[in-house]
Parts: sequence; C-alpha cells; structure tokens
Amino acid sequence: MSENGSKLIELPGSITVRDLAQRMEASPIQIIKILMSNGVMANINQLIDFDTASIVASEMGFETKSEVYEITEEQEPGEMPFWRQLLAKEDASRLVDRAPVVTILGHVDHGKTTLLDAIRHTNVAGGEAGGITQHIGAYQVEHKGKAITFLDTPGHAAFTSMRSRGAQGADIVVLVVAANDGVMPQTREAIAHAKAARVPIIVAMNKIDRPDANPDFTKKQLSESGLVPDDWDGDTIVVPVSAKQKQGIEDLLEAILLVADNIDIKANPDGKLFGTVIEAKVERAKGVVVNMLVYNGTLEPGDIIVAGRAYGRIRAMFDFRGRKLKKAGPSTPVQLMGMNEVPSAGDIFLKFSTEREARALVEERALAIQQHTAAAPKATLEELFAKVQSGEVHELRLVVKADVQGSLEPIISSLNELGKGDIKINILHAEAGNISESDIMLATASHAIVVGFNVQADAAARRNAEAEGVSIRLYNIIYRLTEDIEKAMKGLLEPEIKENTLGTGVVLATFKISKVGAIAGCRVTSGEFRRNAKVRLRREGTIVFEGEFSSLKHEKEDVREVRNGFECGAGFRNYNDFAVGDQIECYLLERATG
Ligand code: GDP
Repeated sequence: MSENGSKLIELPGSITVRDLAQRMEASPIQIIKILMSNGVMANINQLIDFDTASIVASEMGFETKSEVYEITEEQEPGEMPFWRQLLAKEDASRLVDRAPVVTILGHVDHGKTTLLDAIRHTNVAGGEAGGITQHIGAYQVEHKGKAITFLDTPGHAAFTSMRSRGAQGADIVVLVVAANDGVMPQTREAIAHAKAARVPIIVAMNKIDRPDANPDFTKKQLSESGLVPDDWDGDTIVVPVSAKQKQGIEDLLEAILLVADNIDIKANPDGKLFGTVIEAKVERAKGVVVNMLVYNGTLEPGDIIVAGRAYGRIRAMFDFRGRKLKKAGPSTPVQLMGMNEVPSAGDIFLKFSTEREARALVEERALAIQQHTAAAPKATLEELFAKVQSGEVHELRLVVKADVQGSLEPIISSLNELGKGDIKINILHAEAGNISESDIMLATASHAIVVGFNVQADAAARRNAEAEGVSIRLYNIIYRLTEDIEKAMKGLLEPEIKENTLGTGVVLATFKISKVGAIAGCRVTSGEFRRNAKVRLRREGTIVFEGEFSSLKHEKEDVREVRNGFECGAGFRNYNDFAVGDQIECYLLERATG
C-alpha cells in the first residue's frame, strides 16, 4: 500500500493487455474498455507502453512504479515474459544448457517461410533431410552437434499478436530482411517486439542472389533502425543468405550458436514443469491436439497439465517426426493428446499432481471470466442496428478478418464507402487470418461485430463469442458481405440466415423446349431436390446461377421432390444456359437459431 492508501504495482516498459489484467487481477475486457474510453483501441495481446498502462492502472485505483530490470547495453527495457519469470525462480545450481529457441520474424514476402524450409531441409537433427512428417509448430535442427529449436508458426497463425508472442517465446529472433526491399513496416514492428521482449536479434539478409539486391542500402536502413551491423562496428550480426538457393544457412546457424553462447540459455530438466502452447486444434481422429514447447522440467505421458482454460492427462506425445516420445525436456517441441479443450496459442502450461487440482484451477478461471463478462451487452448485427436507429449508437463497429491481405483491401474500401452516410462504419481491426479469441475480446469490449471473409472462427473464438453474445458473420463472396452491412445500415437486415443443403445433382443432358426454355436432364446424386427449394448451379466449381426451379419433372410428371439416385428434368427461373456436367445444389434458407 502507498501512503494515500491506493495499491502499488510495478510495471515494465511495455506490457500486454492480458498481462496487465493479470497483474491487477482484473478482466482484460475491463482494461480494453478503459483504453477505449481514452481513445486507444487495443486487443488482448497488444503491447501498451508504461505511460498508457499507468493511466489504466490509476483509473483502477492503483499507483504505479517503473519496474527495474538489469538492462544490458544492447537491450532496451521491456516486459519479462512470464515463463522467464518462472525460470528465474529455479535453483541456479541445477540449471544446465538447453537448445536456444529461435523465432523468425520479418516483413511479409521477405522469405521467412522459405528460410524455415531451407533450414529444415539442410539440417534436421539426425540428418534425415526432409524427414519431418508433420507440422507441430516447431522443429529442431543440429549444427556442429548442438541443437537449435525453431518456432515454425505459420504466417496465418490464428492469433493476432503472433509477432509479439513469437518474440516473447524465443531466446533469439532471426529477423529476415530482403536485401532488395530493405527495412519495411513489419521489419520495424518485429524489431520493436524483439526489443520489448528483450530478445537479441540476428539479421538474415535474404535474397542476396537477386540482381537488385542492395546489401549496403539495407545495412544503412538497419543501422537507422537501431541495428548497426557488426562489420560497421555495431553489434548486430548480419548474415547474408539466399533462402531460395540455400546459401548462407550454415553461417546463420553458426551465428545463432554464437549469440546463444553469449546469453545464458539454461533450464532445469528436473525442475518445475512448464512451457507454452504453440498452437492447438481439434482433429477428427485424435481429438484435441496441442503443440507445445517445454521450457523447463521434463514432460511425460501421464502428466496432468493445465493451459489456459484447458486441462488433461497426457495420453500420447510425439515429436516433429511423428515419433512417440517418452520424455520431452527443455526446448523440446511436442505434439500431445489428452487435453479436454483447445487452449490458446501462447498459454503457459503447468503440471499438477492430481486431476482434481487441475480441474479446480480451470473452473476457477472460467468462473472469473464469466463473472467479468456476465453484464456484457450483446452485439448482434440486428441489435446493433436497432441501437443505431434509436440514436444510441452512431456507428457500426466492425472487426474484419479475411484469408489474405489481398482480399482485405477491397473489403475495407467498400465498407469505408458505405460508411460515408449518416451512419459511420468504424473498422476497429482488420487483419488476414482466422477469427481468434482476441478478435472476440475486442468486439465484446467495443460492441462490435466480427465479419470474416473466407476464414473460420477457431474453437476458442466460437466459445467466447457464444458466451459474450458477439455476432460472427462469415462470407465467401465479398458483395454478400457488403450487402449485409448495407442492409444493416438501412434497417433492412433480415435475421441471420443459414443454408441447409437438401441435395446435389449433376446435369446429364440439356434440352430446349419452345415456349418453356432450357431444361436440364439431371440425376440426383445425394439427398433430394425439392420443387420449392433454392438452387445453385456450379460449373467447374464456379457458381454460374443461383435462383429457383421453374419446373421439376420425373418421367414427364410434375413432382414435388426427386430423391437420390433418380433422374429428373429441371428448369430454372430466368436461366437457359445449362451445360452437361454442371453441378446442382438444392438448398433451403433457414433462420439461424441461437
Ligand atoms: P514470407 O512471407 O516472409 O514467408 O516469404 P516467403 O518465404 O513466402 O517468400 C516470398 C517470396 O520470395 C517467394 O516467392 C519466395 O520464393 C521468394 N524468396 C524467398 N527467399 C528468396 C531468396 O533467397 N531469393 C529469391 N530470389 N527469392 C526468394
């Protein structure tokens, strides 16, 4: 307690919303709301600086003080990731060397994926080139007899702050900078994340094979961004590589080991077990599959662990080659089965001695979240619109996710166009990638709805959206998306409609009948066709028509339905261009429940 009775907390130079909430024992949503009322749009994984965090803390009755770190010359102050705090509690005399954990960051298209592939193919531990049978979010290679663990989280990872998480979860960041393109926005962002997480950076200056590569200019830009190359008397190692031609890979690995030697990369294999979730999903045959990285201790099948709101006893454990593992020590990536739910990427996992304790913790966490969000207002598109109309809200807030950056741009520009009228459209967050838990958190806190184009909502996001009453609307045709939003703004939005497929069929022959038009002779190949249902015609996968039947006949008789395996003659209203081989889908539009 400080003198005036308020509580005192120490804050680092920057902190994620989630961690700030944890430190104040508050809900992340509460923090996001306070940030919003101060004009800062943040999601749960976002890093906010000390000053911003202090404002939030003081609104919540805390007094703040700057956390003191021992800062080495080359590193700026930043947040100490939770796992490092745990590691710091280990008995120093029991610590042994472990493989450095490396993450590759950099601007899009600068060659991260190609570099990860090149490293994997040249140096997979044990010399089995290309011997990786499955992707588990990380792999290990060997260089001069020493192991290095690479985090291999794909670019489309389902969490927003992958770059921040990646930096936080690693010992070393390899920053890929294309020598023909130089330092770009995401390069700068990666540098900031690495610095905030106090993780040393090695630059892989990629694409040196290209005729337009300009190493000197790139080095100059790097220097301006605070990474002065060692051959320019700075202390950042810059390794020229060509990921495509697999050149410079050994030098890069050498540099990683060199940097690793300079920082203590240790853990206690017999100590407290903890690690982090790299990614997790549900697979039909295996159930919940979780990819994890062990930081400390040794993980074994039969262990009971908790990660986020999931717990379970480990049934089976595999390495990145798909081989069964009996033990996984520090810096080992593993895939495991046996958890009851899908935890979130970045969740720290801990071991418990009984399932009862593990369950109790998870229930406690779930309850805390429930209590904080029970009063959260619902945000469906219809309700939002009602508020817009009644003058309560003057803008429609959206979180937009799309499969690729290329599809985001036209969506955003059409939405902005729509928002030029009386009702504004406020796009709080737009990004390529699946809809994640943090998107829902942001939508909840800001009464927004989430729209997705060619993406899905991951399990944690769906669960969260259901609990919070946040509307997720998914589209795979851009104009449908904009049309819906436009309708919502005009008050014409119909309740969310779900498509229920009745049957499919194929066109076997086409006929022209005078005064009637074109008729398709077809066979129903699954389910059934119904005369009063909707139809869709696809040619080589592309939709060429959507509408209704004008006629449906079986052996010259008008019929109401045709079942699987039977042939029929079908006419579509206002459509005459059938072709043999066209696929027909017959479906009903139903009002979605819930
Ligand atoms: P990412 O978005 O950073 O993962 O980039 P990718 O690994 O997908 O690479 C983007 C593009 O650059 C691809 O077309 C690669 O083939 C190409 N590329 C990557 N590395 C090199 C390289 O060393 N030389 C050349 N010429 N092209 C490269």
